[in-house]
Amino acid sequence: MSTMGDGTRAVRAGLPEPEQYEPTLPGPVFAAHFHLSGEPVGPYTYGRDTNPTWTHLERAIGELEAPGEEVSTTVFASGMAAITAVLLSQVRTGDTVVLPDDGYQALPLVREQLTAFGVEVRTAPTGGDAQLALLEGAKLLWIESPSNPGLDVCDIRRLVAAAHEAGALVAVDNTLATPIGQRPLELGADFSVASDTKGMTGHGDILLGHVTCRDPLLTADVRRWRKVVGAIPGPMEAWLAHRSLATLQLRIDRQCTTALALAEVLAGRDEVTGLRYPGLPADPSYGVAVRQMRRFGSVVSFELADRETAERFLAALRLVDDATSFGGVRSTAERRGRWGGDAVPEGFIRFSVGAEDAEDLLADVERALDEAVGRAGGVSDGSARATLLP
Ligand SMILES: *Cc1c(COP(=O)(O)O)cnc(C)c1O
Repeated sequence: MSTMGDGTRAVRAGLPEPEQYEPTLPGPVFAAHFHLSGEPVGPYTYGRDTNPTWTHLERAIGELEAPGEEVSTTVFASGMAAITAVLLSQVRTGDTVVLPDDGYQALPLVREQLTAFGVEVRTAPTGGDAQLALLEGAKLLWIESPSNPGLDVCDIRRLVAAAHEAGALVAVDNTLATPIGQRPLELGADFSVASDTKGMTGHGDILLGHVTCRDPLLTADVRRWRKVVGAIPGPMEAWLAHRSLATLQLRIDRQCTTALALAEVLAGRDEVTGLRYPGLPADPSYGVAVRQMRRFGSVVSFELADRETAERFLAALRLVDDATSFGGVRSTAERRGRWGGDAVPEGFIRFSVGAEDAEDLLADVERALDEAVGRAGGVSDGSARATLLP
C-alpha cells in the first residue's frame, strides 16, 4: 500500500480480503459479548475490549497514518477520550508534561486534572517552537500543529529530536491536518492522536477519536486505558467512520483547495486582519508547514474589526452555518471568542471550508463581508441572490 496514491489508499483502507457473497465493508457488529467457550482468549470476547467493526476501522486508520508500516491504532468514543488515554496512561504523580498554551480549548481542563493528580504541567505557545525551552526532565511533550484555533505551526521533527534527547515521549494532536495532511509518526512522534469528529469523518454527525503508535508497548498502555475507562465508540459510529474514510482524499483535497482560494480572497480585503492559513505563502507558518505537511487543512482564521462586525458577517452568510467544530463537508464559521477560553480578539473568526463549489462559497463570503461593513452589494451580490432565490 505504501506506493499508492492517497485516494486509492483511502477507498481501500482497512477492507478485509474479498470473500464470495460477503459485502466489501462488513456491516457494524452489535455485540456486548461473543460466543466463547473454554479459555477466554481473543480476538473477540467482550464488547468493551474488542469489536470486529473497530478492527476494520483501526486497520484503515493505521494504513493512512503510516502506509506500509506496522503500526497499531486504537479508536475511542471521542477525541478527548483519545487525548486523555495517552496522557493518563503515560504519566504518574511527580512526572512533568509539556502542553501548548494555545491548543484545543479543553486542554486547560486537562491541565487542571493533571495538576490535581500531582503532575507538573508546563506550557508554551506552538509558534516559534517555544515548547523547546521546557523539555528538561519532562516525561511527555504534547504538540498540536497546526494549532486550533490560531493555526500556528511548529517544527515537529525539531521538537521530537529535542524531546527524545531529553528522554520525553512525544504526542501530536493531528486533528486539523488529518493523516492525509500530515503523518506525525513519520516526523518521529511516538503517538499520533486525533479527534476524528472533524475532517477525518467529515460529515459533522459523529464523535470519534484515535491513537496510532509504532511501539506495541505504548499501544498496550493505550488499549489497557480504554478498557479501564470504557471510552469506547459504538459499532455504528465506527462503521460510519470507516465508510466516511473512503471519501477522505476527495473531501480534503476539495476543502484544502477552496480554503487556499478563500485565504487569497480574504488577503485582498481591507476589513480583514490577522489572516492565517498555513498554505498561504505569505503566512508566517508557511516555511515550516511545507516541510512537514502534505495538505494544509480546511480551516482559515481571521479577524474583523470587533464583535458586532463579526456577528453581522456570520449572520449575513447564507451558505455557511454559524456553528462550532470544523472539517465537515458543509462550511461552518464562528466567532471563537463567544466560548471564552481561547486567547483570541472579539472579532476573531474560525472559518471551516466545506465541499461547496468554490465560486458559490467565495461569492457568499464577499457579499457577507460587504454587508457586515455596511458597503452596498456589488456584482457578486446580485449573482449570488439570483442563484439562491427561486
Ligand atoms: C475537537 C478537537 C478535540 C476534541 O475532540 P472531540 O472529538 O470533540 O472530543 C481535540 N483536539 C483538537 C485539535 C480538536 O479540534
